[in-house]
Amino acid sequence: MPAAGKVPDTPVEILVDVLTKAMAVASSSVNVPQELKSHLQEALDIACGLDNYLEEMSTPESEPLAELYRETVSHDWDRVHQEGKTMFRLPKECVTGHVEGQTLKMLVHMSQAKRVLEIGMFTGYGALSMAEGLPEDGCLVACELEPYLKDFSRPLFDKSPHGSKISVRTGSAMDTLQELAAAGEQFDMVFIDADKDNYINYYNFILDNNLLRMRGVICVDNTLFKSKVYLNHVTDANGLALRRFNQFVSADPRVEQVILPLRDGLSIIRRVPATSEGVKAQDKITDDVVFRGVKGQPILDRLRLDGKVAYVTGGGQGIGRAFAHALGEAGAKVAVVDLDQDKAEAVAKELLVKGISSMSITADVSKVEDVRRMVEAVVGRWGALHVACNNAGINMNSASEETTLEEWDKTFDVNLRGTFMCCQAAGRVMLKQGYGKIINTASMASLIVPHPQKQLSYNTSKAGVVKLTQTLGTEWIDRGVRVNCISPGIVDTPLIHSESLRPLVQRWLSDIPAGRLAQVTDLQAAVVFLASDTSDYMTGHNLVIEGGQSLW
Ligand code: NAD
Repeated sequence: MPAAGKVPDTPVEILVDVLTKAMAVASSSVNVPQELKSHLQEALDIACGLDNYLEEMSTPESEPLAELYRETVSHDWDRVHQEGKTMFRLPKECVTGHVEGQTLKMLVHMSQAKRVLEIGMFTGYGALSMAEGLPEDGCLVACELEPYLKDFSRPLFDKSPHGSKISVRTGSAMDTLQELAAAGEQFDMVFIDADKDNYINYYNFILDNNLLRMRGVICVDNTLFKSKVYLNHVTDANGLALRRFNQFVSADPRVEQVILPLRDGLSIIRRVPATSEGVKAQDKITDDVVFRGVKGQPILDRLRLDGKVAYVTGGGQGIGRAFAHALGEAGAKVAVVDLDQDKAEAVAKELLVKGISSMSITADVSKVEDVRRMVEAVVGRWGALHVACNNAGINMNSASEETTLEEWDKTFDVNLRGTFMCCQAAGRVMLKQGYGKIINTASMASLIVPHPQKQLSYNTSKAGVVKLTQTLGTEWIDRGVRVNCISPGIVDTPLIHSESLRPLVQRWLSDIPAGRLAQVTDLQAAVVFLASDTSDYMTGHNLVIEGGQSLW
């Protein structure tokens, strides 16, 4: 139910107002049949309950947004206008409000926007809602005509952890758009909520000057404008401007649009790929797989692993854990395999919590029976195996003249024999499927002799992993199975935190052009790349990620 005294503003509020008046007339007349009154009452209940229900069922706003709302509606906008602080008398009803704010925040999430442009900020409720949906390094540029509003909103933005993402540019929005275009700026999402008769100019400027990034979305507020866009005999200038705007966009072959009947109408507009006819009509454009993308997909989408089934050995911590998260984030189902059951279960749970399908398997990759059980468990549960990440490995240190056969055998059992057994077990499934990606973890130690620590067995076993990878990679590629390996430099994981290795960190740093150890996150993109179809022509490759250390 609209608040008492509030002027009905949206189509639903106007409907409620009209039905309330009709009901009053019907109730005061004895001639109106009871059936008509009950139909009217039902229509009133439906219309009246809608906005409240949307309010109640939408996720509540954050406290900084609630405060921004309270400050906006309690501010004396008439007085500040009379005092000459604002150019226009600003109606507090302009505030975006809870449900629309949450809708914008959801759209920012869904479009994975990192940069948002807002044209017409008012007190910044919409801006802060959208900023809440942006990633930590996201930013929102808000264009606002009234300098007073920038000063009003900043202290309120500063109360939110997301406020620093917002920068406000005052002055004419068209001037700001021109500056942004001249600077080559682009945005993933643009929200237009300003002077209605300029909507069409903003919209055209954004599309004509590429301010909207490829696959970006434009959202436009008030596009149902109190129902005046579709009622006959409307003379209201803003209503007519929006009617023209909606018609223009719906006929524009560059875009698709949908108008949501949310509050006063919210249009969502996306640019569509050019048709072949459209491309043919243009000079100097080659309409091929490079222009369109393989299977019509832009490169980042081609890195996705949706529907793929993967396992990662040694996935319970360190590099393997980072690989498991990366493959899962890219869309794969991931089995986390580790000798240590607790660690495997913990990482599988982390993935589940993030919405990634996962399972944990306790297995020792140096035992043939465990390896067979691991592959069977994955295929038994998910019906296929597309990505085998053979990462488990151990490192023991000793001077070569002291190295025991026990150390040698243990290292080789896990690092080389274990990797071979995993490759073979996974490869048998993949060869039958005619498709597979095997990614072994080797080491920079396959290329150089890391020093001053002494690790003969480790270095030799990892050199073996590279040769194993090259041999399998060439033997199996014509049957759809690619085998590659990743060779990390010195990575900051528990493996190097042993008592003997820890004191060597300073020494290593002086050997690394990058000036730091690798973090496990430095390796994540590589595993996704090698697991994805984008690397299908790569096989037997040793992908070295060592901050330049092997080159010095
Ligand atoms: P880590 O010791 O932090 O983790 C290894 C994980 O593998 C542990 O959870 C452990 O329980 C598990 N594991 C050990 N033996 C196993 C076995 N037989 N079966 C199943 N799981 C087993 O190691 P990390 O630093 O994450 O290293 C992962 C891989 O990367 C290893 O192959 C390692 O040789 C290689 N690597 C590491 C570095 C580095 O600097 N950390 C550098 C280059 C290569």
